Amino acid sequence: MSQGLYHHSLRAERLPLRINMATIAIVGAGMGGLSALNKLKQQHHQVHVFDKSRGSGGRLASKKVADVSWDMGAQFMRAHTQEFAQQLQHWQQQGWIERWSFDPWVIDAQGARPSADGVERYVGVSRMTALSRQLLQAADEFHASTRIVACQWQASGWWLQDEQQQSHGPYDALVLNLPPQQAQPLLDASPELQARCDVAMQPCWTLLLAFEQPLATPFDAAFVKQGPLGWIARNNSKPQRQPGETWVLQAQHGWSGQHLEHSKQHVTEALLQAFWSALQLAPQTPTEHWLHRWLYAISPQPLQRGALSDLPKRLTVCGDWCDRGAVEGAWLSGQQAANDLLTVLE
Ligand SMILES: Cc1cc2nc3c(=O)[nH]c(=O)nc-3n(C[C@H](O)[C@H](O)[C@H](O)COP(=O)(O)OP(=O)(O)OC[C@H]3O[C@@H](n4cnc5c(N)ncnc54)[C@H](O)[C@@H]3O)c2cc1C
Repeated sequence: MSQGLYHHSLRAERLPLRINMATIAIVGAGMGGLSALNKLKQQHHQVHVFDKSRGSGGRLASKKVADVSWDMGAQFMRAHTQEFAQQLQHWQQQGWIERWSFDPWVIDAQGARPSADGVERYVGVSRMTALSRQLLQAADEFHASTRIVACQWQASGWWLQDEQQQSHGPYDALVLNLPPQQAQPLLDASPELQARCDVAMQPCWTLLLAFEQPLATPFDAAFVKQGPLGWIARNNSKPQRQPGETWVLQAQHGWSGQHLEHSKQHVTEALLQAFWSALQLAPQTPTEHWLHRWLYAISPQPLQRGALSDLPKRLTVCGDWCDRGAVEGAWLSGQQAANDLLTVLE
């Protein structure tokens, strides 16, 4: 399917109006793209997935340093809708996710206290990315480490160009599952959708820590409502994680934005100080640590409209920011993107 761009014009046949077995490209192997993939495969279309990273999952990310690993992006999944609740149940039956049973605490100016909120939270086992790997199995081809830099709509269909100047296509339909800032440059063929990508995303500084001994704190996870931190969690309290004391610290989005260009050392020190203060423990030296800056972590005002589609061009754009800012929103958006395409493919 890869060939030089100059070959495109030689394949100028007209697309049929209905395609029973279409070849579809999905750019972005996060939850939105994987959701669309599985829906499209139910109708037996050929689906090729591209991602700039070495693996799948996107913000459903895990990080390994030496022999320690953490969930570096999404911490858990929860359902607000019946559809996603059913999907979680299905994945649980498959053994791909498990319930993470814990009572989150709240830490604010009044102190630390349990908040039995009754929410059912689920995690991929044995890490969040494990779920994405299962979902990716449905793909006919996965092009890892392939950053797409241009998408062209021609008479023969969609052509994708990667940063190595390789061309991929033609495809009968295209799904772009990317944060809006990364989707925008790929949408020259559809100025209307391009304009809809004007959606803000907030950043999140994330610090991962490992310790020799368990930290003496009564909770496994807490929502922090003061200072730089927003969330802290004992990663090894999740089911099927490897032994060893590991913590994930996420900064508040506002604080992350204000400190976006600060040095890693400054951010690490500020988050560590806030962590020990939240735990009311004397500082200890971690055995491993890793700091990550998520530039496009979450949308404060997602579009709440499922997906954005340009159906005459068999093009659809999805992702959490099109629906709601969570794994659930990404999954729902991917379903909508696939449903939109199916109306013009079948
Ligand atoms: C720190 C953090 C904590 C979070 N916590 C939670 C939580 O606890 N619960 C929850 O429900 N949600 C949480 N979220 C949000 C959740 O992770 C996202 O809503 C969801 O994973 C988004 O999925 P997506 O498919 O829309 O996008 P993404 O996962 O961002 O997927 C986009 C993919 O596109 C790829 N890509 C980008 N540009 C290109 C290109 N040019 N070419 C090829 N590939 C490209 C990327 O590599 C990525 O894999 C969190 C997010 C972050 C960052």
